[in-house]
Amino acid sequence: MAHGRLWPAHPKPLQGELLSSWIVRVAQANGIKLQTLSWILFGNALSPWNRDIDRSAPKWLLKAMSEHTGVNYWDAYHTTLTTYRTILYPNRRCSGQLRWILPVRTYAMNRKGYGQQFCPLCLAEDLIPYFRKTWRVALFTFCPKHQIILHDACPFCGVPVVFHRSDFGVEQGNTRPIFKCYACGFDFRAATTKRPVFPSDEIRELFGEMLALLEMPVGQATPFNLGFFAVLHRFCCIMGSRQNDNRLRNFITNRLQIELTEIELGRTCIEHRRVAERYDLILCALWLLASPTERIREVWEARAVRYNLMLKGINESPQWFWQLAERCSDWRQGYRAR
Ligand SMILES: [Zn+2]
Ligand SMILES: [Zn+2]
Repeated sequence: MAHGRLWPAHPKPLQGELLSSWIVRVAQANGIKLQTLSWILFGNALSPWNRDIDRSAPKWLLKAMSEHTGVNYWDAYHTTLTTYRTILYPNRRCSGQLRWILPVRTYAMNRKGYGQQFCPLCLAEDLIPYFRKTWRVALFTFCPKHQIILHDACPFCGVPVVFHRSDFGVEQGNTRPIFKCYACGFDFRAATTKRPVFPSDEIRELFGEMLALLEMPVGQATPFNLGFFAVLHRFCCIMGSRQNDNRLRNFITNRLQIELTEIELGRTCIEHRRVAERYDLILCALWLLASPTERIREVWEARAVRYNLMLKGINESPQWFWQLAERCSDWRQGYRAR
């Protein structure tokens, strides 16, 4: 491959494609190993993959990709998860957890990160299979198009999905395609499918609408904004905490007449939970936010959630939630007076 500006093959990012997926496809389209392409781009074959490049792609990398593929810089930028800043999370942070962004396992990280999800039917339908940005977002627990639960690991051997690893440590020509497990070779397109079960039409519509709007190009004003997602996150954290001890989930699942599933309570934030637990937590939190004024009061009056838990991190919450939580303190006084 020439070291000149434009590479011989320069596929453009596909609709909603993730940067790492695009880079892997560019390497394969040029018939070179990802290591070689990384060396050309970074001067070192492994270093870029030491971190989560989809989350924190340096400007120079996007510039280089743009120069070598002829893709507009901003189109390259839109393949990164940074575009969710000010929608899902407030600020760009180099380390630590980004709200709603799923962590992936990198070379520097020993713990498992089941943060790369996929929809087998999207991959199967693709003329050129590729990984979407939305599959790295914790809210995407099912595919809005195919209405099936996403997979967050290889369904055959259980390892996290790390599609760029198919290319490392193997000879050129033995590279596994992006849709096969790097560890066992299982074809993700053949994974079993499971439909999500919604406890009510209200939740099904709200969940679907929320995901559909997140799939739209960024920059459009929607009710699903930073404030909404901050509050949704707060309630998911409360329900997953030991402090709340399933009281809130118990209340909501009773109201929805569904069974309370078992989840691990503790300090685990929602982004570190597996897809099934995330799905259950988001369902319950969406029930609350479908009609927040009445329902937040209802759960508070039923003592399913304490005022101080709702207020935790309230500085980041929108005005409407702050006012609702404040009202709980008024209600508290009224409650005591009764
Ligand atoms: Zn799909
Ligand atoms: Zn596998």
